[in-house]
Amino acid sequence: MSYTPVLLDGKALSKEIEESLKKRVANIIRQTGVVPVLATVLVGNDPSSEVYVKMKGNACERVGMKSLKLHLPEETTTGQLLAAIDKLNNDDSVCGILLQHPVPAHINERECFDRIAAEKDVDGVTCHGFGRMAMNEPAFGSATPAGIMKLIKHYNLPIEGKHAVVVGRSPILGKPVAMMLLNENATVTICHSKTEGLPEIVKGADIVVGAVGKPEFIKADWIKDNAIVIDAGYHAGGIGDIEISKVKDRAMAYTPVPGGVGPMTIATLIMQNVESAEIQLFKNIKLQSDIEGGVVELAETPALL
Ligand code: NAP
Repeated sequence: MSYTPVLLDGKALSKEIEESLKKRVANIIRQTGVVPVLATVLVGNDPSSEVYVKMKGNACERVGMKSLKLHLPEETTTGQLLAAIDKLNNDDSVCGILLQHPVPAHINERECFDRIAAEKDVDGVTCHGFGRMAMNEPAFGSATPAGIMKLIKHYNLPIEGKHAVVVGRSPILGKPVAMMLLNENATVTICHSKTEGLPEIVKGADIVVGAVGKPEFIKADWIKDNAIVIDAGYHAGGIGDIEISKVKDRAMAYTPVPGGVGPMTIATLIMQNVESAEIQLFKNIKLQSDIEGGVVELAETPALL
């Protein structure tokens, strides 16, 4: 049997998304006079994190929003980081808050993530947001998993009834992507470092998601023909968590590394910041217009929270 594997081009799709976001941001500015702001919080000096935060800030500015960059020193305490988040929560000009993961080990990251106000949790990192998403209620999804789902859906790939195997169960990636696949009626298996017989489990997968954080850990010969192969990993030398180069010719579809999941993560974060801005800023202008009896043309604003 021969296959024509589909390259899931996250780079191209993220560009398309950015173009549509430019229009939505222009509409927000035209109607409210406010330029939406994404606050990015980076703690410490991890070079990869610095690059990721810079890329996110740049993407924000490309679509016409502002980014407010907060860079805190390595020795920041949990209390100081919580205070910084409180300040951003209370700043009406800030529509979304991104706290870059990971923070230094001495900080209680979960407590800090959960301090982010639900309506500003555009990176989808709070327990509240996760719970709502898992219950299939409107919420900002965790950015990387939500980006993966957008990519799969954009290419109309089958999810319902399929066996999805997610390797990794981190709070920002493995667990939420498993819940999102479940919400789309996949039959989901979540694997982790204590899983026994991993190769055999992966061999049963119609959809494989690699979210392990180890270069080419998932071997090509564990993956059956015609599977959808999603690689969230990114390591030096442009390789991911899966042996993509060895499996792509017999996959139904696959994400390239780089250019697959990475750009979709950023596009999703920016999109969710635009949605947050629409909800927060149009709510204000609508109240104002009610008072003045004016008419406001609303963009698509999902009732999120
Ligand atoms: P993480 O927090 O380190 O989680 C790794 C997961 O892999 C854990 O659940 C761990 O299991 C599991 N694991 C480790 N060794 C394993 C083994 N031998 N067998 C099976 N499972 C094993 O990593 P993460 O933050 O989820 O990131 C995963 C990957 O995605 C990394 O390569 C990261 O760079 C990438 N990533 C990419 C983006 C993007 O925008 N492209 C965003 C986020 C992350 P336990 O839970 O049992 O420890």
